[in-house]
Amino acid sequence: MKLTEHLNRSKDTLFSMEILPPLKGQGVSSIYETIDQLKEFNPAFIDVTYHREEYIFKKHPNGLLERKSTKKRPGTVGICAAIKYKYDIEAIPHLICGGFTKEETENALIDLHFLGIDNVLALRGDPIKTERSFVPEPDGHAYSTDLIKQITDMNQGIYLDEELSNPTPSDFCIGVAGYPEKHFEAPNMNSDIKYLKKKIELGADYIVTQMFFNNKHYFNFVDRCRAEGITVPIIPGLKTITSRSQLNVIPRFFHTEIPEELSDAIENCSSKEGVQQVGIEWGVQQAKELIEYGAPCLHYYTMGRAKTTKKILEQVF
Ligand code: FAD
Repeated sequence: MKLTEHLNRSKDTLFSMEILPPLKGQGVSSIYETIDQLKEFNPAFIDVTYHREEYIFKKHPNGLLERKSTKKRPGTVGICAAIKYKYDIEAIPHLICGGFTKEETENALIDLHFLGIDNVLALRGDPIKTERSFVPEPDGHAYSTDLIKQITDMNQGIYLDEELSNPTPSDFCIGVAGYPEKHFEAPNMNSDIKYLKKKIELGADYIVTQMFFNNKHYFNFVDRCRAEGITVPIIPGLKTITSRSQLNVIPRFFHTEIPEELSDAIENCSSKEGVQQVGIEWGVQQAKELIEYGAPCLHYYTMGRAKTTKKILEQVF
């Protein structure tokens, strides 16, 4: 089912989660363990992230270094299909521009269509570690807007090969990313929202936000989007702080502010359990306020750790 249909049918705020594919060589059981712990809260959908190739260096006996490309977390599409058919829950693959030619994207979309996956989250992806800024594949997409256009074309039966006779249209519901605190490359919020609007005009159906710890960022973001005529559902993305090191890691990687009150409370903790308790209490407050506001769904970046998310959900759903 399309995510937007699911949201339309529900009067209440829903719950959803995001998981990572396991590291290469590990089985799928850790994914099932996470889902098993949270399925009692009826997830509306489960997102599965996509991880680009990374470069590793292998040293040869002659001292020369060989650069090799490897994907440490393959399996996004397979895991989505496994989740959908094991749990009957909508699984949403993240599809990125990085590392894909247009034809590879088309082939991935064909696979997803065959597998009965109805939703995709269309993203650009971050630069790989060895790149200073994002570099598209020679015949790939530079922005999520280009990827969205390819998907909406396919939804109308327009494939890359114009010679196909009577091609079957797909019918994907398309999600995109939104940034309540601005995407780190955008010169300002106006510019970021201008491109977000373009994503919707090109056919995106809903927005999932980057994580935030101060609900005011989400409320202001929704107001600005609505003022610009963006009417699609805006799903808040949430993460629970579980360790002190995240106070530095989260702003560095996700360009998200940690409110003073939260960072002070964490710094005053003398144990890991104490930090987790602060993270849970903060998460409960955030969730209750977002539900009262009428957020369509609370989307949790579980990163495979269900315990703390479960403690929050028990108190709010
Ligand atoms: P875009 O929408 O392409 O935007 C990138 C920048 O360019 C922005 O500053 C925007 O304002 C600007 N822009 C957009 N369109 C245009 C245009 N046509 N012309 C000029 N400028 C433009 N990364 C992964 O690698 N794998 C994942 O699974 C993943 N999941 C994510 C899930 C969510 C909910 C979010 C919020 C992020 C996720 N990311 C993931 C990270 C994401 O790939 C990065 O934040 C990336 O830097 C930007 O992706 P985007 O789709 O927002 O890019």
